[in-house]
This record gives sequence, C-alpha cells and structure tokens, in this order.
Amino acid sequence: MIKELLSQLFKKPATSKYPFVKAEVPEGFRGKQVYDANLCISCGLCSRDCPAKAIEMVEVDGKRSPLFHLDLCVFCYQCAESCPRNAIKSSEFFELAAINKSDLVLKPEGNAQKGKCEQQ
Ligand code: SF4
Ligand code: SF4
Repeated sequence: MIKELLSQLFKKPATSKYPFVKAEVPEGFRGKQVYDANLCISCGLCSRDCPAKAIEMVEVDGKRSPLFHLDLCVFCYQCAESCPRNAIKSSEFFELAAINKSDLVLKPEGNAQKGKCEQQ
C-alpha cells in the first residue's frame, strides 16, 4: 500500500487546469463549423443530410446559404461529408456555452459567418 501511495504522489495529475490553462484538443476534433461562402454553390445537401435538422437554408444577398443552429447540432459533421465543394470545415473551437439559444445561431453573411459564438 505504501508503494502504491508513493507512486501516486509523484504521478502527473489526471485533470487539467482548464479554463485557467487553454485546453488542448485532439487531432481531428470536431468543433464549431467554419463555412466558406465563396465555395458554396447553394445546393442544400448539407441541410438535407443533417440528421439533427440543424441547418436551415436562408437567403443572404440573393444567395441561399446554410444557417447553423448549434443548439441542435450533434457535431457529427455529416454536413461536411455531404458538401460537394468542401465549404464546411470543422474548427477546434468548442467553448459554445450560452444562456440564450439565439446566441447559438451561426448566420452566413457575405463571405463570413456571424454569431455571438463566433470563433475567438
Ligand atoms: S455537424 Fe452534424 S448535426 Fe451539426 S450541422 Fe453538421 S450534419 Fe448537422
Ligand atoms: S452542401 Fe456545401 S455547397 Fe451545398 S449548400 Fe451546403 S455548404 Fe453550400
């Protein structure tokens, strides 16, 4: 028992100091979506294939574009798989906690996404 106690004393902690220390995410992590309006051809396949119905196609500057409801999203990234133009990519941004659901709406606006949960 003493041997076990001593070995535990000198072990690295299993927990991290997040949020005081920035958390490292593993390679391939699926965080908040990044949408590139320049690549999008308005086909709507991302919206059609989203299993959580988290993508709404909306009209922006005369072009149909995906609007993401992150409160519904399960971060499966089927949308990116279905997109023929690679216009949806994942990011490492995961701090999406919000008090209001409206803060979890990612609106496509011109060439960028707008929303209070925008990547820092
Ligand atoms: S990651 Fe999955 S749930 Fe989220 S918008 Fe894309 S397809 Fe829908
Ligand atoms: S699948 Fe890709 S190209 Fe089609 S509407 Fe969605 S983001 Fe645009």
